[in-house]
Amino acid sequence: MSEIKIYEYIWLDGYQPEPSIRSKIKTTRDDLPPEWAFDGSSTQQAEGGNSDCLLLPVQTYDCPLFSDYLVMCEVETGEHETHPSNTRAAAAKVLTDEWWFGFEQEYFFTNKDGSPLGWEDGTPRPQGDYYCGVGSNNVQGREISEAHLEACLDAGIELSGTNAEVALGQWEYQCFGKGVKAGDDLWISRYLLHKIAEDFGVCINLHPKPKSGDWNGSGMHANFSNEEMRTNGSEDLFKSLCEKLGEVHEEGIACYGSDNDMRLTGLHETQNITEFSYGVSDRGASIRIPIFTLEHDWNGYLEDRRPASNADPYKIITHIVGTLT
Ligand code: MG
Repeated sequence: MSEIKIYEYIWLDGYQPEPSIRSKIKTTRDDLPPEWAFDGSSTQQAEGGNSDCLLLPVQTYDCPLFSDYLVMCEVETGEHETHPSNTRAAAAKVLTDEWWFGFEQEYFFTNKDGSPLGWEDGTPRPQGDYYCGVGSNNVQGREISEAHLEACLDAGIELSGTNAEVALGQWEYQCFGKGVKAGDDLWISRYLLHKIAEDFGVCINLHPKPKSGDWNGSGMHANFSNEEMRTNGSEDLFKSLCEKLGEVHEEGIACYGSDNDMRLTGLHETQNITEFSYGVSDRGASIRIPIFTLEHDWNGYLEDRRPASNADPYKIITHIVGTLT
């Protein structure tokens, strides 16, 4: 008889405007995680009288922490229909693995009372020393960021880097993936971040503007490319892609996270939320054409700078790929 395995099922709940991550554990001798169920009336996904929702495993990761495997799931209704909260299903319909994404996930570490790490004694000195800084007066939470990086790599999630960000207690990691798995990887990387931070009594704040005033907000720049952009690009191709995304700017913004108007003000390296623009090397534009792309004879990628840190990556990739194909 085979060994009992511990599977950690992970799914997105029905909360608005952004879902939260939920998980529960199943032990079984099965070699693959079976379909499972949960009480949808406790996650805003069902009424009490008909509360069973179904968990459909779609991606399995080696677990670097307690359990044997992390299992990303789509949610179905009790009647095996795609649940309205399931944004992954739409992404899986339009995505192929020729689409590559690199998400720059920014976030704040906070205490349980919501104050950012390092802000316990009041507002710290102004921004300047913190970005990529070193030293206890400049950086907070490094040990959590490093534990998270290690855990993601052990799980097979490709984090291509991390850095301390412009505000004290603010960090970033870059998460690379292909096709719809890029969205799975980002959600699982967020799950691991929340869970590892638990060990330190610390919380994760994904709001795009946790601190008003002259403090950077948190975004999630989405770098993307397809085969043609990487290998058969041209100035015309890249500009036409930007134009197409500009034509549906408002639809894009609707997919790019709530309260993003607090962050996209035209200040702090952002374009105003009501404007759309693109430009080479332009960090004040909605979409930046990286210098890398020019230097490779218009072969490379684009950076959509509009998505907020709290955005659902499935919605982002569905919008970009749905618009461009
Ligand atoms: Mg950044």
